[in-house]
Formats: sequence, C-alpha cells, structure tokens
Amino acid sequence: MTKRQDGDSDGETNPDTGGVAEDYTVTLTFDDGPHPVYTPQVLELLEEHDAIAVFCMVGQRAREHPEIVRQVVDAGHALCNHTDTHDEKLSERTREEIERQITETDEALDDAVGGDTEVRWFRQPATFVQPQVETVLGDHGLEPLDWTLDPRDWSRPGTESIVQDVLGGLEPGSVILLHDGGGDRSQTVAALDQILTGLDAAGYRYVLPGDP
Ligand SMILES: [Zn+2]
Repeated sequence: MTKRQDGDSDGETNPDTGGVAEDYTVTLTFDDGPHPVYTPQVLELLEEHDAIAVFCMVGQRAREHPEIVRQVVDAGHALCNHTDTHDEKLSERTREEIERQITETDEALDDAVGGDTEVRWFRQPATFVQPQVETVLGDHGLEPLDWTLDPRDWSRPGTESIVQDVLGGLEPGSVILLHDGGGDRSQTVAALDQILTGLDAAGYRYVLPGDP
C-alpha cells in the first residue's frame, strides 16, 4: 500500500496524520448476505473502526435471517438489493422475471426492517449492472452499484491475498467488493481487520456510494 504524501492531490493536508490528505474516501460493500455467522463478525469490525458500508443482500437469505438484516440497519449501514435468488443469469431473463427478482428482494428487506430504511442501490450478481437490467431500476427507485476493486475473496485465495489486493489496488474513491455471505467467509473477516487498519492509517474516510 502506498501512503499518500503531500502534493499527491489537490486536497488539503492534515498535519495530525503526517501529511496525509483529509479527503480520501472509500466505499466498502459486502455481498451475498445476510449470514448468521459472518455478517455479525463484519459488523463488529466495522464498529471498531467507525466505518460504514453497504450490504448487498439476497432476498431469500433476508427472509431466513431477518434479525441480521435488522442488525445491519440498526448499526447505521445501508442496504442494497442483490436479487431474490442470486440469479447470475439475470440479464437473460424476461423483464417480468427481472422485476420479480427486484420486487421480492425489496419486500424481504422491508419486512425485515419494518420499512425503517430506504434501499437505494441494486447490484447484479456476478457482473456489473447490464443495460437491460438497469432500465428496470428507475421504476423501483434503485441506482446501479458496481465496484472498482475486487480481491475475489469469495474464491478464498488466502487472507494475505485479499489484504494485498485491496490495499495494493486502493485509490481515492475506490468501491471495494467483499463478501459476508454465500459460504465460509472467515478469510474475508480476517482480511477485513487488516484492511480497515490499513485504511485508517492511510487517512481514508468511509462513505456511501456517490456521497462526498
Ligand atoms: Zn453476489
């Protein structure tokens, strides 16, 4: 990871952080939850580092673990619609089926949190949001959410590999893709601790997508 120095940007520098600019932002996103084991572990680490994140949830899993959805929202994090069944072939579906995937997930998330939060984003499984899916989003008040940094943590490449990929590829404005659900995420949780420590040390600020 490169620690950013004076003169590296137009931003003001902060003498308290050794000349690291104040205005570097990063967005953390977690996909495929909620998960009864790993989501709470991720939440605990985020709290320790005073970080906020977006959780891209699968409708079916939200119906199985509504209490975890509630925990995420109560901790101040944002929700993102990640389809009802984690449909990786969503682009090939009819408009009706795409609508169904979105609506059922929205309902599952709403049911879990009693309408206490507005779901602002949609992330398509396994790909950036494709045009035929994006055209449907506006009707549901959703914005597409892609990413810029993918350490492929879901493939369990080892904690060190996940940490290196994220901190090595980091830039101001990076949107980091990690997974709290969909399998054994112990490597991701272990990596997250180091990633957050690295982000803090480099002076990064955690923001939601599109926020300044
Ligand atoms: Zn996913």
